Amino acid sequence: MKKVLVAGAAGFIGSNLCKRLLSEGCHVVGVDNMSTGQHANVEMLLLNEHFEFEERDIVQEFDLRVDEVYNLACPASPKYYQLEPVQTLKTNFIGALNLLELAKRHDAKILQASTSEVYGDPEMHPQPEHYAGNVNPIGPRACYDEGKRCVEALFFDHMRQYGTRIKIVRIFNTYGPYQSYCDGRVVPNFIAQGILGEPLTVYGDGNQTRSFCYISDLIDGLIAMMNSKDDFVGPVNLGNPDEYTIKELAHLVAAGTGNEVKLKYQKLPIDDPKIRKPDITLAKEALNWIPKVELREGLEETIKYFQNQNLFIKYD
Ligand code: NAD
Ligand code: UDP
Repeated sequence: MKKVLVAGAAGFIGSNLCKRLLSEGCHVVGVDNMSTGQHANVEMLLLNEHFEFEERDIVQEFDLRVDEVYNLACPASPKYYQLEPVQTLKTNFIGALNLLELAKRHDAKILQASTSEVYGDPEMHPQPEHYAGNVNPIGPRACYDEGKRCVEALFFDHMRQYGTRIKIVRIFNTYGPYQSYCDGRVVPNFIAQGILGEPLTVYGDGNQTRSFCYISDLIDGLIAMMNSKDDFVGPVNLGNPDEYTIKELAHLVAAGTGNEVKLKYQKLPIDDPKIRKPDITLAKEALNWIPKVELREGLEETIKYFQNQNLFIKYD
């Protein structure tokens, strides 16, 4: 039985990935420091006898004999990664280094979740992997953007210096079940607001764009990347190229929740990228991967999931 370590297992992508790996017959060890993870996600996974959970911070060294490592541990919402920016940077660098050392020790493959944020506020559209990006290295988003750029450099140097079996994916905005409604990112915010009948908070004029990928498609991509040949290391973009303005997204979510559309305009965060859309030519060619779920359909599933949660605590 393949033994897989998932760092960030209690989070949105991590819990969905663990669920899929368990359904494919793997033994999964999840680790998480519960900074943005959800206890309910862990409880759901613990129903499977092949899932183990350890509450730990990847910034502290540890060891485990495994065949594969997925590193998803890192707060991903601007609201959370900016709360403790030094911890975000430590997680990105020291945490990733600890997992690289663990993978090297056991000759395990290690996949790093990088991000479309490495392209910053892009001047090239859509963004292919060879685009070097336009990132403000000293702004409030830098702990995340530069943190992830640094992890990519660290992964490549670890491979060049020690022969570590690395894989890097650049994930674009992803949404779906098991994301927390308090997460602060646009899809859970809009859905929670829509369900509660409150105005949807649009930052700036709402004309900025994002391209939203449904979670099941992303998980297919992560697994295809892990299973690809050792000489294909990436980085490879994983995202859905269908691009929407944030205002369009607000209308789709409001329609999906069955409530009247009410928008509340708020200040645009500093360094908020104006446009974003992945060029997925490489993922198509190297992994035979393309996203299948359209936004309307994915939102329907996600809204159903949120409607079954108890939205007791008002999101802020
Ligand atoms: P999330 O916040 O739901 O999950 C991250 C998990 O990592 C949480 O459970 C958190 O408690 C855990 N964590 C954070 N720091 C840790 C540490 N030091 N030690 C152990 N656990 C730690 O976010 P997500 O959306 O599931 O994102 C997962 C990964 O994917 C992140 O690395 C993120 O950068 C990347 N990513 C996500 C998206 C997206 O749209 N969801 C886009 C690009 C990249
Ligand atoms: N956004 C918004 N309202 C919200 C949350 C986010 O208008 O309640 C905007 C945000 O300013 C950005 C886009 O939606 O332009 C996507 O934000 P998110 O935090 O989901 O992800 P990002 O791509 O910025 O990391």
